[in-house]
Amino acid sequence: MPLFLPHFNLQKLNTLAVPAIADYFVAVHNDSELREALAFSRTENLPHLLLGGGSNIVLQSDFPGVVIQLKSQGKELIAEDENFVWLKVSAGENWHQLVEYTLAEGFYGLENLSLIPGSVGAAPIQNIGAYGVEVKDLISELTALEIRSGLTVNFTNESCRFGYRDSIFKHTLKDQYVITSVTFCLAKTPRPNLSYPALQHALAGVEKPTPQAISDAVIAIRSEKLPDPALIPNVGSFFKNPIISTGQLSVLRSKYPDIVSYAVNEDSAKLAAAWLIDRAGWRGKTADGAQVHVQQALVLTNPQHLYGSAVLALAKRVQDSVYAEFGVSLEMEPRVYP
Ligand SMILES: Cc1cc2nc3c(=O)[nH]c(=O)nc-3n(C[C@H](O)[C@H](O)[C@H](O)COP(=O)(O)OP(=O)(O)OC[C@H]3O[C@@H](n4cnc5c(N)ncnc54)[C@H](O)[C@@H]3O)c2cc1C
Repeated sequence: MPLFLPHFNLQKLNTLAVPAIADYFVAVHNDSELREALAFSRTENLPHLLLGGGSNIVLQSDFPGVVIQLKSQGKELIAEDENFVWLKVSAGENWHQLVEYTLAEGFYGLENLSLIPGSVGAAPIQNIGAYGVEVKDLISELTALEIRSGLTVNFTNESCRFGYRDSIFKHTLKDQYVITSVTFCLAKTPRPNLSYPALQHALAGVEKPTPQAISDAVIAIRSEKLPDPALIPNVGSFFKNPIISTGQLSVLRSKYPDIVSYAVNEDSAKLAAAWLIDRAGWRGKTADGAQVHVQQALVLTNPQHLYGSAVLALAKRVQDSVYAEFGVSLEMEPRVYP
C-alpha cells in the first residue's frame, strides 16, 4: 500500500512554487500502487491530480483531493535493427536525464529536447517541442492505464493524434488515462536537426555537430534565455504561439511590418506570442504580484511564491491587451487546477 500523506504542501513539487495544500499526497512507483491510489480517491470521493514534475501546471488554490505523483523508474531496450533502437521508458523517469542517457548510449533524436523540465509520462500529453523537434517525431507507442477500468492499453503514435503542443489526451481522452510508459524509436547514427535558426547560429563554424554538441548548444541557449525555475518560479511558455489565417496575417503585417511569424501551411501561420506580448508593452511588467519575464515575454513568473490565481490574473490582463491590440487570442499552455 503506498503512503498517503495528509495535508501536504505542494510548493516543492511545482515549478511555479505555489504553496498549495493537497488533502492527500501519494507517490506511486508501479501500476499496482497507481491502481491503489486511484481506488483511494474513488472510495474517499475525492478528485485526483496526476503529477509528474509539476512544470506545466498552475495551482490556483489548494487542491481538495489526492495528488498522485508518478515515480515509476525503468528503461528497457525492447527491439533494435540495423538503424534504430526501440527504448521503453517508465513514466516517472526525469525527461532531461533520459536525454542524457540516450546520448551516452549512442541513441539519437532527443538532443534538441534537452533540458525541458518534467517527466517522461507528461511529455506526450502536450507533445513537448523545442528547437525544431517535437517528441511525437520520436514516439513509436505508449502504454496507459485507463482510470475507469484499471486496464492497460497501448496507443500507437497515430492514435495519440499529436499536434502542436497537443494530443488526444487533452481532448476526447482528457483525464481518462494515466500514461505509464513511452516507447521511443531512436536512431543509431546521428540525424542532426538544425532547422531552428538560433541553433544554426550557435553552431556556426562547427563542421559536423555531434548530437552531444547539439544538446550542449540547446542547453546553453535555454540557460541564457529562460529563467531557472529553482531561482525564479515559472512554467516555461505560458501561452501557445497562436495560429492564424494567412489572410489575417497580411492584415496584421500591413499595420505591423516587423510582426514575427512562421509559415504553418498555405493557409495558416504561427505568430510569435512573445512578440505580441512584448509589443503590447508587457515585457518586464509586474501586476498582481506576478511578472512578465524581462528576457522572454512568453514566460510569466511567480517571484513572491503566491497562489496561482495571482499568475492567472496577470495572464488574463496580458490576454486582454493582446486581443485589444491585435485581435488575436492567446491560449494558455499549462493546465490549471483545481
Ligand atoms: C523552464 C521551463 C521550460 C520549459 N520548456 C518547454 C519547452 O521547451 N517545450 C515544451 O513543450 N514544454 C516546456 N515546458 C513545459 C513542461 O516542461 C512540459 O510540459 C513537461 O512535459 C511537463 O512535465 P511534468 O512532468 O512537469 O508535467 P506536470 O506539470 O506534472 O503535468 C502536466 C499535465 O500532464 C498531466 N500528467 C503528468 N503526467 C502524466 C501521466 N503520466 N499520465 C497522464 N497525465 C499526466 C498532469 O496531470 C497535468 O495535467 C517548460 C517548463 C519550464 C518550467
